This record gives sequence, structure tokens and C-alpha cells, in this order.
Amino acid sequence: MAERSPAEIARETFKLLSVKKLPPTPENYQTLYHEVAGTMVPAHFPFERLRLIAAALPAKNPGQQKQCGLLESAITQRSWDGVQNALVGYAGFGMLGTASNGHSGFGDSGFAPPASSASAHSNPALTPEFMEQIARLIDNALPALGSDDPRFVEQARELLVFIRQPVPDLPRTKTMLANFTHRLSFTAEDQFEIKNALLQLLHLLFTNIGELCLDDQWLRGQIDALVVASTPPLSLRRLDDVQRRLVDVIAKQSEAKARAFEAQTQMRQLLAAFVDRLSLMGESSGVYHSKIEECARQIEQVQTIEELGPVLQTALSATRSMALDTQNSRDQLQTMREKTAQAEAEISKLHLELDRVSAQARHDPLTGALNRRGMEEAIQREIANARRKGTPLCLALLDIDNFKKLNDDLGHEAGDEALTHLANITRESMRPQDTLARYGGEEFVIVLPDTLLELGVVALTRLQRELTKKFFLHDNLKVLITFSAGVAQLAEDESGSDCIKRADQAMYLAKRNGKNRVLAG
Ligand code: GH3
Ligand code: MG
Ligand code: MG
Repeated sequence: MAERSPAEIARETFKLLSVKKLPPTPENYQTLYHEVAGTMVPAHFPFERLRLIAAALPAKNPGQQKQCGLLESAITQRSWDGVQNALVGYAGFGMLGTASNGHSGFGDSGFAPPASSASAHSNPALTPEFMEQIARLIDNALPALGSDDPRFVEQARELLVFIRQPVPDLPRTKTMLANFTHRLSFTAEDQFEIKNALLQLLHLLFTNIGELCLDDQWLRGQIDALVVASTPPLSLRRLDDVQRRLVDVIAKQSEAKARAFEAQTQMRQLLAAFVDRLSLMGESSGVYHSKIEECARQIEQVQTIEELGPVLQTALSATRSMALDTQNSRDQLQTMREKTAQAEAEISKLHLELDRVSAQARHDPLTGALNRRGMEEAIQREIANARRKGTPLCLALLDIDNFKKLNDDLGHEAGDEALTHLANITRESMRPQDTLARYGGEEFVIVLPDTLLELGVVALTRLQRELTKKFFLHDNLKVLITFSAGVAQLAEDESGSDCIKRADQAMYLAKRNGKNRVLAG
């Protein structure tokens, strides 16, 4: 038989298909084609069975869907290699299918993703550096979320290990990150709520304790500081500060308590001794009385002067011993009184010490200036003074110029030093009766008693000059600190805070007019 062309073989094959009434599937066509051409029928390829298997595989996530597609085309192409690759690829997405059904995708690492499947390297943006950045982000966020939820911590660890693999699988990374984010949002919300609730509780607690200790001046100081410290927004520095002060006070308090207890015991002993002494005195005077009465009775019966001698002797010795007893008692009581006075003096000294420690609650620890609470007390005091004496009172508010820039250029620590420098120069250049208070971050209030408005402005201008003379030195670098200030004189019936408001408006105008100037409000 002459060689037939492929077109003829194809035509024959179609005819045969219709004669045999076979469906025109690619595999039927292929088998008949080889029959017509007289070529080798390739080894049997179980299309139908493989198709059934492919159809039975669930495609629950994009990874699985893709692998199912690859499997289909591998079957069509009779490629066993393709079938194998597609099935192995499919297995890599097995656990993620479960995860998308609501279970965790972190738990099982038995399904290692195939190195040939979609990987971080297939996306040029997902470089190992980028993945490491994500890992570091998670690492750094974890401490803030606490360790109350061990499952979450464990999941985060697994995620970190996973994305730090040399070639983490992209779809799986995505799912794991999504699960992590989901859980993270709950945990972060919880932490926020917990912090707020704790703060409110603390606040309530401190306020209540404050109500209970109206008379205890030193305790009051601490409570006030704690109430302020537990008011949002929280600042670590403020909390730190209060903690340090509390430690101080607790030490002093326990010392005072121990001393007070000692003094109490001493007093109790003194009282007991005193009562003993009194009863002894009672006893000895009872004995004395009966001895004297006996003597009197004997004297009545005395006939001769010789008989009188021994009776008088008895009366005399009873009187002498009575006098001796009395003297002893007086001496002992005197010693007791001195000891009691000494104990009392020690206790009141300790209380004074406690008051002193507590007074620090009125000062800003960085600059040593008064804090807001201290300032309010000082202003109240000065207003009362000024009204009583009929003298003028000025309040000045100053705000350092471009302080943020100073912080940015030289660092926060240098900023802190600059604040301290300003406070020191202000204290040096103001009169002793003037008071410096830290009103806020880089804002200060100066209380100027007995000062008319013009002189208040002069005083602040002098301070400006002082600051240009006494540079703030940072790393041997001269840094010029300037400020803008507003000065207001207290009006009749005006409150301290209203007066500060006017000074603040003037300060604001000074800023608007170019900074580094002092304006009257
Ligand atoms: P202006 O001249 O308009 O007042 O600008 P400014 O930068 O001085 O003011 P701004 O209010 O923009 O910034 C104030 C800065 O002061 C921001 C804040 O970080 C800083 N600051 C506040 N308190 C402190 C502190 O205790 N220490 C330090 N180092 N910086 C502080
Ligand atoms: Mg400011
Ligand atoms: Mg400022």
C-alpha cells in the first residue's frame, strides 16, 4: 500500500470514528489514527480515570484552582510528568484549603510547598530583604501585644519562621499574613481596651484614696501626682517620675511608721510605769498615813517625855521615807516626760520630712521649676497677697522659638538640656520673689509679684538679653535659645487662668510678628 498523507489518514480516522459510532474525543481519535496509520499505539493512558480523579479534587483556593488546571492540561497532553507536578503542587495548597474554611493555617508544616510553585522569587518586589522587613515588623510589634494569648504568640512565631525561609511560598505567605492580621486586630483592640480600663480603674482608685486622706498632707501630694500620672495621654517619663517619687515616699513612710510604732510602744511603757508609780505612791502614802495615825494614837497615850522619843522617831522616819518616795517618783516622772517629748519631736521631724518629699510633687523634675499644680498654688497665693496689699501682679508666658528644630537637629537630650539651661538662666536673672513654672513642653510661666505691666515686659526683655549672653553649650557648640513671650497684668476680679490666657494671646502675637520678642497683653 502506497504511503498515505497525514490528511488522508485523518479523513480515514474520522470515517472510522463514525462507523464505530465512537464519540470524537481526542483519545478516540488518537487511537484510531494509529490504527489507520499502522503506527504503534502508545501505552495506554487512562484519560477517563484521571479526568475523574481531577474532577474529584476540590479547588478551594486560587492555588488549588491553578494546580487543577495544570492537571487537566497534563492529562490532555498524556504527560505523566505534568500530572505528577500538578498533583505535588496541589498538595502544597492542601492545608491552605482547610485554613480558608475557618481553621488556622499555621499549625501544620508537614505540607512543604513545592520549590517550583509560585514563590517569593517569582515576584521581584518580594525580595528576601522585603520579607525580612515584614518579619522584623512583626517581631517589633509583638512585645506591645503582651503574652496573654499564647496561641497568638505561637502563631506569630510560626509565621516568622515561615517567612524567613529562603524561598517562602507566596500564596501561603499571603494567607498566613491575612490570618495573623485578623488575629492581631483583635489582640491590639483588646490591649487598648485593657489599658484604658486599667487607667480608669487606677484613676478611680487614686481619687478615692485622695478623698480618704484629706488631712495627710504628704499622702495627698503623692495621690495628686498619681491622679495626674494616670490621666491620658500617658507618658513614660511622667510614670517614671511618679514611680521614683513614690519609692522615695514609701521608704520614708515605712521609716516614719516604724519610728511611730517604736514611740507608741515607748509611750505605752511610760504610761504603765506612770500608773505603777501612782499606785506605789498611793500605797506608800497609805502606809505613811497609818504610821502617822498610829504615832498620833501613841502620842495621846504618852505619859512621860521619855516615852515620846521613840514615837517621834517612828513618825520622823516614816516622813523621811515618804519624802524619799515622793522625790523618786518626781525624778522618774520627769525622766518619762523628757523621753515622751523626745519621741514626739522625732515623729514630727519625720512628718516634716514626709511633707518635704511630698512637696516635690509640685515640681517638674527636669527643670526644677514648679509644675502645673505647683504653679496654680503659687498663683493663688500671689493673687491673694496682691489683693490684700493692693499691689500689681504680672503673669508672663514664654514659649521657646523653633524648639522642635533644636530637638530635630541636636537630639531630644540636648532639647532637655536646653530646657534646663533656660530654667537656670531665668532663675538667675529674675528677682527672688519671682516664681518660675513649667506650663507645658517648652512653655514656661513666670509669676511676677509687685510688678506693673511695663516693668514685667522689661523683666522678660532682660531675660532675653541674658540668654544671648549666656549661650547654651552643646558639644562645645554655642546654641542660641530665643523665646517669644506675652505679659499680662492681673485685672481686678480676674482669675489667674484668665490672666494667663491673655498672656498666651500676647505670646501668640509675638510669634506671629516674627518670634524672639516680648509683647504686653
Ligand atoms: P514655635 O517657635 O512656633 O514655638 O515652634 P516650636 O518648634 O518651638 O514649637 P512646636 O510646638 O512646634 O514644638 C514644640 C516641641 O517641643 C515639640 C516637642 O517635641 C518638644 N518638647 C516638648 N517637651 C519637651 C521636652 O520635655 N524635652 C524635649 N527635648 N523636647 C520637648
Ligand atoms: Mg509651644
Ligand atoms: Mg515653641
